[in-house]
Amino acid sequence: MSKNAASNATTKVSPFVLLIIILTLVLSLTALIIALSMFSAPAPDYNAVITAGWLTLIGALGLVISTYVLLQARRRTQEKIATPPTLTTVECTKCGFKNVREFQRGDYIFKEAEKCEKCGNPTQIAAIYREVKEGHKERYRF
Ligand SMILES: [Zn+2]
Repeated sequence: MSKNAASNATTKVSPFVLLIIILTLVLSLTALIIALSMFSAPAPDYNAVITAGWLTLIGALGLVISTYVLLQARRRTQEKIATPPTLTTVECTKCGFKNVREFQRGDYIFKEAEKCEKCGNPTQIAAIYREVKEGHKERYRF
């Protein structure tokens, strides 16, 4: 009955960002190739060398930036997947009955929460914490 977690969630970079990164990579490589051909010209004049130097600089910068952005985006998606769920423990002020539920927006410690399942008295939030647990990562997403 249990589904095997598909391993297709490794890189979820938006296609638009990916397109820009690839475009930057291609342009940078083109700039480097042009620069290389200018440097290896039989008799390069001063202006050609300057232009080739700039092209090399721009090309290298483009390569570094696009690689950096790609790595950052990849790491961010991995972090998002690995984020453990936040849980809230509510405790009855009268009978001490404890209940653990998923964190809800606006929860804070000592806040009056829903009524006690056992005695019907108001409960209070006792703790808010992150559950560090292996597996079941796909189930909890904000
Ligand atoms: Zn109670």
